[in-house]
Amino acid sequence: MYDVAVVGQGPAGGMAALRLAEAGHSVIAFDRKKRVGDPIHCGEGLGKIALEHTNYPVGDWAIREVKGNRIRMPNGKSVGLMSPGYSIHRWGLDRTISDDAVAAGTERHENLKITKVTKEEGHWNLFSKDEEVAKAKQLVIAEGRVPNIVTQVGLKGNDKLRLLPGLQYKFKTSDVDFPDTDYFDFYIDPMYADGYIWVFPRDDIFNVGIVATNGAKKGLDYFCREHMSVDPDKRIDNELGDKQNGGLIPRDGPIPQFSTKDAYVVGDSAGLTNPITKGGVHVGMLSGEYAAIAIRNELGTGKLVPPSHSVNCHELRGRYWEACGKSLHPDLESHIWYDRILKRQPWTKQKFVDQSKLIYSLDKRVLNLIGEIYDGRNYSNLPWHKMFGVLIKNPDLIPMAGKLLKIKSSLKVTETYGW
Ligand SMILES: Cc1cc2nc3c(=O)[nH]c(=O)nc-3n(C[C@H](O)[C@H](O)[C@H](O)COP(=O)(O)OP(=O)(O)OC[C@H]3O[C@@H](n4cnc5c(N)ncnc54)[C@H](O)[C@@H]3O)c2cc1C
Repeated sequence: MYDVAVVGQGPAGGMAALRLAEAGHSVIAFDRKKRVGDPIHCGEGLGKIALEHTNYPVGDWAIREVKGNRIRMPNGKSVGLMSPGYSIHRWGLDRTISDDAVAAGTERHENLKITKVTKEEGHWNLFSKDEEVAKAKQLVIAEGRVPNIVTQVGLKGNDKLRLLPGLQYKFKTSDVDFPDTDYFDFYIDPMYADGYIWVFPRDDIFNVGIVATNGAKKGLDYFCREHMSVDPDKRIDNELGDKQNGGLIPRDGPIPQFSTKDAYVVGDSAGLTNPITKGGVHVGMLSGEYAAIAIRNELGTGKLVPPSHSVNCHELRGRYWEACGKSLHPDLESHIWYDRILKRQPWTKQKFVDQSKLIYSLDKRVLNLIGEIYDGRNYSNLPWHKMFGVLIKNPDLIPMAGKLLKIKSSLKVTETYGW
């Protein structure tokens, strides 16, 4: 009998396994992939603050630093979100976290899909096809975007869950006509319905990708030809030998309940992505860390206290989490603490999902006017005089000015929890 079984070894499941094994628990982890991290489902951008929030060290999977993010409007003008980050080898990050978990004592099984879990006398039985593969007291569900087990443990799953398709190519920098900058650029345009194009610089390579509901390949090929002057067929293989990578992303916010007494849902399986950027590594790792804290408390090796964060310029943001955790009643049951601390986060709120929908419903004219107003400034530095000037010239926008200002608060959340 293991203390904990973790189903899935993406960043969320890897983090949970690592922290639980470090605390001395017997942990068994499964991934259906032949090799954790392969294939890649990612644009491979990660905020530095994700590592600060989870006290996880940067590794050689981080290949280039960027200064921040720029949201580019159809007219090319941008709004900044200046949180620094890394271009990463995503397979390297997943692999490293999971390998660290193994080094800390986790028993990992790759190429093994958990198809069924059943409850018996206070523990879980895990099955792959009809064969029982483990028994465990606690369960972490980290299956990613299309979970099978969430409803089997009695949780509701996500009725409204809709998935957004993403696709990414890589080009040699020398093959494209595009400026190499130290920023992650996001091109928002109604022609990429419900989504955007990203261009992430790496060393001598650009990652160029899209999320959109109206034809990802069509939109990405168009952007490559029109904005980067490159034939999509010139794309190069990624490090794992694939000509392109992609996948599906939860886009409608989280599931209604994150845990039952002895089962915790983390990462994409819980719908925990940022609905504006669709990034999910940061909040996935965080949820894995918090599930581990709750399970340690349940198994008697820890307390319901969020980890303290390193002292740096993001200290205040880190302390926000601690404050959320400390204000919860100390005698809460572990799984209720986990559910509540996630529900207190600004990125799990329905209004955040609603504001992201508003952003992606704006037409070209409004987006361009926002670009005119900010003209490269950071989102927090709104030039009010320019905004009033635009409203005077475009009085039809006055009724939606309040809504547009709310977007500013969503961008604040996204600056911290975007990637
Ligand atoms: C095209 C694209 C681009 C993206 N770009 C970014 C980005 O740049 N930055 C960012 O932060 N986020 C990005 N995301 C989102 C991010 O990849 C996810 O939010 C993140 O992977 C979630 O982590 P996770 O651990 O919850 O799930 P996953 O990373 O999906 O891991 C789940 C794991 O569980 C395994 N598994 C599933 N079912 C079972 C089972 N039954 N038994 C055993 N194993 C199982 C899978 O094989 C997988 O390894 C992108 C997503 C896509 C699709």
